[in-house]
Amino acid sequence: MIEKTWGQAQDELRKTVGKNAFASWIEPLTLVSLDAGTARFDVPTNFMRDWVSRNYSEQIRLHLAKVGAEVERVDFVVPKARAVPIAKVAPATRKAASRPQAAQRSEEGDLPGAALDSRFTFDSFVVGKPNELAHAAARRVAEGGPVTFNPLFLYGGVGLGKTHLMHAIAQEMQARDPELRVLYLSAEQFMYRFIQALRDKQIMDFKELFRSVDVLMVDDVQFIAGKESTQEEFFHTFNALIDQNKRIVISADRAPGEIKDLEERIKSRLQCGLVVDLHPTDYELRLGILQQKAETYLALHPGVKLAGGVLEFLSHRITTNVRVLEGALTRLFAFASLVGKEITLDLAQDCLADILRASDRKITIEEIQRKVSEHFNIRLSDMIGPKRTRTIARPRQVAMYLAKQLTTRSLPEIGRRFGGRDHTTIMHGVRVIEEMRGTDHQLAEDVDLLRRLLES
Ligand code: ADP
Ligand code: MG
Repeated sequence: MIEKTWGQAQDELRKTVGKNAFASWIEPLTLVSLDAGTARFDVPTNFMRDWVSRNYSEQIRLHLAKVGAEVERVDFVVPKARAVPIAKVAPATRKAASRPQAAQRSEEGDLPGAALDSRFTFDSFVVGKPNELAHAAARRVAEGGPVTFNPLFLYGGVGLGKTHLMHAIAQEMQARDPELRVLYLSAEQFMYRFIQALRDKQIMDFKELFRSVDVLMVDDVQFIAGKESTQEEFFHTFNALIDQNKRIVISADRAPGEIKDLEERIKSRLQCGLVVDLHPTDYELRLGILQQKAETYLALHPGVKLAGGVLEFLSHRITTNVRVLEGALTRLFAFASLVGKEITLDLAQDCLADILRASDRKITIEEIQRKVSEHFNIRLSDMIGPKRTRTIARPRQVAMYLAKQLTTRSLPEIGRRFGGRDHTTIMHGVRVIEEMRGTDHQLAEDVDLLRRLLES
């Protein structure tokens, strides 16, 4: 009876979570009892128990309920005698069942990596225009397969999801192939290990270890800029792995060429692979992330109600980084569940006054004009003046484009600030830059850099 119920629920789950996730996380579960509103599952490992209960318990509960089982709680238990359930599962599942153990290997001291956050998966990563390329590249790497670009270099401002994507890659690769030696760590940890090895006279072990991995992932590589011997060692490790065709994934807060005090040869090696950036979030992406978060929170705090318009308001007003955005939502839910109030616009404005004030910095057209003229080395007066030579007109159009993108001013208003130009001139300028961004790599980089400068 319970087998049939679970079988039906599984069919539904397979459709909603996808084939791979299903094979990795749902199929290895055994429903052992179903009474008093509690469904109890056996899971092969502790890691898997934590993962599944964090990511899938609500969906499992829902689907069991849909096929007629009244379930209020879902419990996952790792049986003491492990031999039994594993002997029961089909060969294809056996591999899946053993996967999560391997993901923990690095925490057990074999590889000196950093712990991976089980919440940072591809499933929980919301994809939008600003991050779709980075996401696609990360997926490609995580799939394994032939190495067509190496390294993958991900860069972007604080809180845009670099670490999230790196953890997602590491966890996915480890889940696909438990034998794979995936080493993820921050550049700071790399340096720390290196110094430790020097001090303990174990540099050969250090070298050997780092050269023995299949996948090396170093987060926030800008940290080693200016740290000479660490850079040197990093460079050698990097080259050795590239030569062996091993996967490397690097992240930084800016493009390789823009990292100060990083040796030229390292910069150029980093640029050899695929360099992709995470753009600042746009409204749709922020809203998407908040909606996903809110869903989880609503499930966790059944008593809390969320009024319409709140998430839209937050996405509109908190534009800095995703971490701040998530923090705001966490605070709202914590507060609302404490005082038992509905989360309304008023409550949000009250409760988040400090965050909202900090995010309130408005970019002015004057600021944009100033930064753009500095960047392209032209006079501010020419930006507004009548000259139409290319060296002046192009930066002017960049400034028009940024004014449209980064302020809420209308085209006629922007026109007035560009020496009383007509709104059609502004529209034309914006279009030109929009189109050129797709074809002119240098221009695209200039625009992104300026945008980041202005938004920081
Ligand atoms: P970075 O390493 O670029 O500074 P993180 O990866 O640490 O940023 O992201 C900061 C927070 O924002 C994390 O909690 C992360 O899960 C979340 N986040 C960022 N981008 C996304 C996204 N596209 N979808 C879901 N969560 C995101
Ligand atoms: Mg990070």
